[in-house]
Amino acid sequence: MKNRFSTKITTFVIVILLFVIITMVYASYLISENFYKENLRNDVEHRLRSHAIAIEHQFDLPTINHVFLMEQKEDVHLGLFDQNLQLILQSDSLDDEWVDTYREWIKDQLAVEHPFPIIDDVHTGIGFHIPHIWGVHPIVTQGEIQGYLFMDQDTEKFEATKAKLIQLFGIMGIITFIIGFFLLMYLTNKMSRPLREMGRATTEIANGNFENIPKESGSDEVGQLARDIKSMAHQLKEYRDSRQQFISHISHDLRTPITYIKGYSAILKDSADLKEEERIRTVEVIYNEATRMEHLVQDLFQLSKLEEGRIGIQKEKFQALPWLSQLIESRTMQLEKKNVTLKLRSNQEDIVLFADEFHLSKAVVNLVENSIRYCQSGDEIEVAVFKEGKQVCINITDTGIGIPEADIPHIWDRFYRVDKARTSHSGGSGLGLAIVKQIIELHNGTVTVQSQVGVGTTFSLCLPDST
Ligand code: ADP
Repeated sequence: MKNRFSTKITTFVIVILLFVIITMVYASYLISENFYKENLRNDVEHRLRSHAIAIEHQFDLPTINHVFLMEQKEDVHLGLFDQNLQLILQSDSLDDEWVDTYREWIKDQLAVEHPFPIIDDVHTGIGFHIPHIWGVHPIVTQGEIQGYLFMDQDTEKFEATKAKLIQLFGIMGIITFIIGFFLLMYLTNKMSRPLREMGRATTEIANGNFENIPKESGSDEVGQLARDIKSMAHQLKEYRDSRQQFISHISHDLRTPITYIKGYSAILKDSADLKEEERIRTVEVIYNEATRMEHLVQDLFQLSKLEEGRIGIQKEKFQALPWLSQLIESRTMQLEKKNVTLKLRSNQEDIVLFADEFHLSKAVVNLVENSIRYCQSGDEIEVAVFKEGKQVCINITDTGIGIPEADIPHIWDRFYRVDKARTSHSGGSGLGLAIVKQIIELHNGTVTVQSQVGVGTTFSLCLPDST
């Protein structure tokens, strides 16, 4: 991969590293060069002055010879010129051309007023392979200039040190660069490998493969990201599975009424000599099945709207007891048909609810209908409304078949039925409790259940009390 994260970081840091190394090497070189040169200049100045003082003090041949003897070195050339700049003595013999060059330089220096000794760096134009330092000091006795002492010091020692220094800096720079490069490659690779793995994993997840999830490594940001991706994959898998289950439930629950409707309408279509009684019974079956289908579709539609948050809750204040009596009244026929009695109870007359009356009615009706559905002849249902702390609660208790403990956590799931043999044909849509839960949660309330097989069930809806 060309534009890899590690390549980008490595290139960026290497460029910075190179820049820093070059700047540091160059700065150290300049500092040491200036320092060494300054020292050498001071040294030449000091020697020239001391020799001139010694000669001035005792202006005779032995003293001059002694001074010249002291400067018998390879990198130094000493010359004594008279006041007319004619060479009197030199430390080693040079050809006339060189002597003329020295003389011209001294002449140039003397033409301008300077404090003595005059020291200058001579770099080019003379034919040196390395820079030289030249200096001149007058020899004055009894107030009269006797001549000029000239010194030419080459900087070979300095040049050798400089070359060594450059070599050293170069080696240090290369070593730093190599170590830095490999260290960086290692670190950036270590950092980017899990990111690449996660990239691969998210592509797999996008393709519907939830198995190849990156391992959670470490407690840093990358580890956290891996954990987040894992949890996302888990949720996506659950979502996919529940969607598949949902679709299979719907198609299953729709197939039965469709089969009935199709079969009975075929009878109507094909049997011209059907008796009036039979015709009415057939039409009734078709009507009942169509109604069941309608309920299932309505419940589905309502649940999906509730889950997507497309239903706005319009809260208003209303009296609980008259509202509940009316709801119960509308179920009288069902209750009588099943020979089940229903009582309404309250410990207080004027309990006021602050809720969306339409949706709360749907929730309570679902629970009451469930109680009727799962009760047998002679059973009892009680609807109780009461205040409890800062809540108003509605309990729907029945003496019906009850729910096994293991099923209780799942009854809120869509299409979950304790008795798997039941379908929308024999029971409810399987969506009732999921709808109840959504409605109560939208009211910031809670819904709980207590049940015992063979004893009965109590569903408890609690809403915040707004009075
Ligand atoms: P259904 O349409 O099947 O009643 P629900 O979502 O309303 O779907 O309920 C889910 C399951 O919970 C039911 O299938 C039933 O097994 C169980 N259930 C709900 N209410 C009661 C109750 N009052 N008594 C016994 N079982 C109940």
